[in-house]
Amino acid sequence: MTTTQQAAANAPLLGCIADDFTGATDLASMLVRGGMRTVQIIDVPHDTEPVAADALVVALKSRTIAAPDAVAQSLAALAWLKKQGCRQFYFKYCSTFDSTQTGNIGPVSESLMDALGTDFAIACPAFPENGRSVYRGYLFVGDALLNESGMEKHPLTPMTDPNLLRVLASQSTVATGLLRYDTIAAGEQAIRDAAAALRAQGVRLAIADALSNDDLRTLGRAFADAPLLTGGSGLAIGLPDNFLRAGLLDADKAAAQLPVVGGRAVVLAGSSSRASQAQVAHWCESRPALRLDPLALAAGAPVIDDALAFFDAHADATVLLYATAAPDKLAQVQAQLGVERAGQLIEHALATIARELVRRGVRRFVVAGGETSGAVVQALGISRLRIGTTIDPGVPWTLGNGPDGDLALALKSGNFGSVDFFTRALGMQS
Ligand code: ADP
Repeated sequence: MTTTQQAAANAPLLGCIADDFTGATDLASMLVRGGMRTVQIIDVPHDTEPVAADALVVALKSRTIAAPDAVAQSLAALAWLKKQGCRQFYFKYCSTFDSTQTGNIGPVSESLMDALGTDFAIACPAFPENGRSVYRGYLFVGDALLNESGMEKHPLTPMTDPNLLRVLASQSTVATGLLRYDTIAAGEQAIRDAAAALRAQGVRLAIADALSNDDLRTLGRAFADAPLLTGGSGLAIGLPDNFLRAGLLDADKAAAQLPVVGGRAVVLAGSSSRASQAQVAHWCESRPALRLDPLALAAGAPVIDDALAFFDAHADATVLLYATAAPDKLAQVQAQLGVERAGQLIEHALATIARELVRRGVRRFVVAGGETSGAVVQALGISRLRIGTTIDPGVPWTLGNGPDGDLALALKSGNFGSVDFFTRALGMQS
């Protein structure tokens, strides 16, 4: 085998572009579960150094930015993934099809299709394990239609129309269509035939119905050779098997196995979401914890030094440092400092603390909060995460390699995880 052939043989199979950080981790977990060694990349790298993995997931922050910016970032990610040698591509968005008035699911899907030279892709946000199903183009969250699920009140991406054909059509320049449930139930050949018929009619983007993991697996098989798939993390469930069947993936690999990381652990919580509040309260019942006060931070009090002193004083225990507050307290602080400033103060404080703790020998971090996780990972100089064992759905242990060597990171977005998430996560690492 020549060096070029060797490199091609080891090249990643699947290249994914995710429109947010925790969504990227969710997708990566799904692929790891299917036996693919997966690395999550934070933003588009500048170098073209090959990454050893079966799947790569580039995490962007492109869900709510202007459509042209989302397109430009997604195309840059695609170009990098192509250089890595990926042979199939995946655009991951939220299972509630979160979009702004003008995008970004339609514009990004179209631009990726153009760049890949393909004229057809499916769009399927269904994630039955998490209660998201699509029937006749309508998206359900549990028993409710999308626009009655609470998503209609989302502060950034209010979803007021449950009909995904209309939503997608309103943000696309190409014709959209539907792969209806009766076709999905009829199996992969029926799906391929229906897709060919839609294509012949000029349809370029097709919403695909799906009610179960079996439907998603059938879709995965039907589109095994598609250059591009778009969807939530659920649609990826069948893709590892496609590569296994094609003899491209080694089934014996322990995809989720990460090297053991020693050293002290810490829990940092910058999320005030409902699940995080319960997790923090649960920890505080029996373990050492210190609350960081945003008002004290704003007043210039030595909040960071106090937190580090608290850590030092508990040399034999794992501590929780948290900003998590009940909704009334949070609203009070936000009214006083402004939402953005309050958030930045806390994020900056937790990120600085994380950096200082690495100097003190901490190597294992459990972090609550999507934005908080982003700030911590950035402060630790980490740009790649190997995805390991799932702690709770959508939240795996990960391995980051930064300037200080290997760090184990469990990065949890606000509403993920059971009430004892922190202790269970730490228990899995010891
Ligand atoms: P989630 O995943 O729950 O949305 P994030 O970390 O993404 O959590 O966002 C939470 C935001 O709220 C962060 O910007 C964080 O700094 C901010 N925050 C956390 N605690 C407080 C608090 N007590 N007062 C004001 N803002 C806070």
